Amino acid sequence: MLNLVLFGPPGAGKGTQADFLIEKYKLNHLSTGDLLRDQIAAETELGKEAKRYIDKGYLAPDSVVIEMIKNILKENKEANGYIFDGFPRTVAQAKALDELLNEYNIPVSGMLCLRVDEEELKQRLLNRGKTSGRPDDQDFSIIENRIRIYNEKTEPLRDYYRAQNKYYKIDGAGSIEEVTKRLVDTIAIL
Ligand code: ADP
Repeated sequence: MLNLVLFGPPGAGKGTQADFLIEKYKLNHLSTGDLLRDQIAAETELGKEAKRYIDKGYLAPDSVVIEMIKNILKENKEANGYIFDGFPRTVAQAKALDELLNEYNIPVSGMLCLRVDEEELKQRLLNRGKTSGRPDDQDFSIIENRIRIYNEKTEPLRDYYRAQNKYYKIDGAGSIEEVTKRLVDTIAIL
C-alpha cells in the first residue's frame, strides 16, 4: 500500500501532479483544498466556517480539517492507498494523520516536498487566478499571506517527516513532465 503526502507551498503543482499519480498508482486523491471548496459550494455549516479563513488566505481550523479526513478514511477502507494533497499542513494535523493511519495499519510511505522559488509561485498563482475563479488566487496580498502562512505553519513539517526518515525533496521547477518524472523516480525507491 502506497500512502503519499504531496507537500509544498501554494502553487507548487501538487494538484497537477496528484492527477497524474492517482492514475498511475491507482490511489485515492485526498485534497483538503478541494474538499473544503466542495463544502463551501454546498453552503454547509463547515463550508461557511472554513470560507472565513480561506478567503483571507488563512488555514481552516485543524479540528475541521481533521474531522473531514477521519470521515473519508472511515468510508474508504478498501482503498489501495492515498495521495494526501494539501494535508497535513500543521504539526497537529500530521500527528492526527499518523494516529488515524496507525488505526488502519497503513503508515505514510513518504513525504514528497515540491520546491519552487517564491517569485515563480506568485506568478503561477496569479496566472491560475485568471481562469480558476478561486478568489484566493486573484488578490496579491492574499497570495502573499498564504505563502507566509505556509512558511510559518506548514514548512516545519519537513522536520517532522525528516525525523521519521520520510522526507524527500523534489525540484518543482521545469515542465510538468519533468517534475512528474522526478516524483516517479522517487516513489520507486520508497
Ligand atoms: P493551495 O495549495 O494552492 O493553497 P489548496 O486547494 O490546497 O490550495 O488550499 C486552499 C485553501 O484551503 C488554503 O489556503 C487553506 O485556507 C485551506 N486549506 C486547504 N487544506 C487545508 C488544511 N489541511 N488545513 C487548513 N486549511 C486548509
